[in-house]
Amino acid sequence: MSTSHQSTKLQEARVEILSLLNVLSDKVDLERKFGADYLPLATIAKNTAYSAEDVISSLLKPHFDTNDERITEELSRSEKSKELKNLEKQVRKCTKCELCKGRTNVVFGTGDPDADLMFVGEAPGYYEDVQGEPFVGRAGQLLTRIIESIGMKRDDVYIANILKCRPPGNRNPNSNEIVLCTPHLIKQIELIRPKIICALGTFAAQTLLNTKEAIGKLRGRFFEYQGTKFLATYHPAYLLRNPNDKKKVWVDIKKVRDYLKEGTY
Ligand code: URA
Repeated sequence: MSTSHQSTKLQEARVEILSLLNVLSDKVDLERKFGADYLPLATIAKNTAYSAEDVISSLLKPHFDTNDERITEELSRSEKSKELKNLEKQVRKCTKCELCKGRTNVVFGTGDPDADLMFVGEAPGYYEDVQGEPFVGRAGQLLTRIIESIGMKRDDVYIANILKCRPPGNRNPNSNEIVLCTPHLIKQIELIRPKIICALGTFAAQTLLNTKEAIGKLRGRFFEYQGTKFLATYHPAYLLRNPNDKKKVWVDIKKVRDYLKEGTY
């Protein structure tokens, strides 16, 4: 069997596992409604991202590898744009988790489909849910200023989130939602193929790096995500509450700027 065939099979198996997990999670929900409280898997739906780390880490392992034909192929900007639109159409219909029930809009992502720089945040908030666009509230305005501080515009970058639907009351994403939603983001990254990903905050950094390390330890360091440079920094919403840490973000974002300019770090 060729490597690319193996890789496709592996990806199909992962998709299958994810859909089984979805079915199982619906079943657990239903059984709980009827009073059952005995399935250990219910820990997955707890409000902590890493209560079921074994499940998460196995599911979030690469959905492709460098031998996969689909990712070694170079797509033009218009092809990327077309593929992203197709993907967005599918994601708009997504009902894999409970968040679909409360959403006004799916917040797929926005920006240049051929961007060198991609930001990944956590999940839509109230304004994002209403407008269907990521980072349009107060945190979003700060993100726009961060982008402009390195001489770029919002339209020059691509912005997406780990979750495409708003968690009720802006609560933290849970593990189940992260596992079910991250494949959409992985496909976006695969299509855009930015030169560098900048993760905003704990959830984006920990999910994509598959680690539980604190954002304070992860930020400002270069990593690789599937062959793409990766740097995490604090989330703009955190900065609104902790303005003293803004200087650290300026330091981090300048590293991103310099990497884009010079190709080294
Ligand atoms: N916070 C996020 O992480 N994403 C948004 O889109 C808005 C706020």
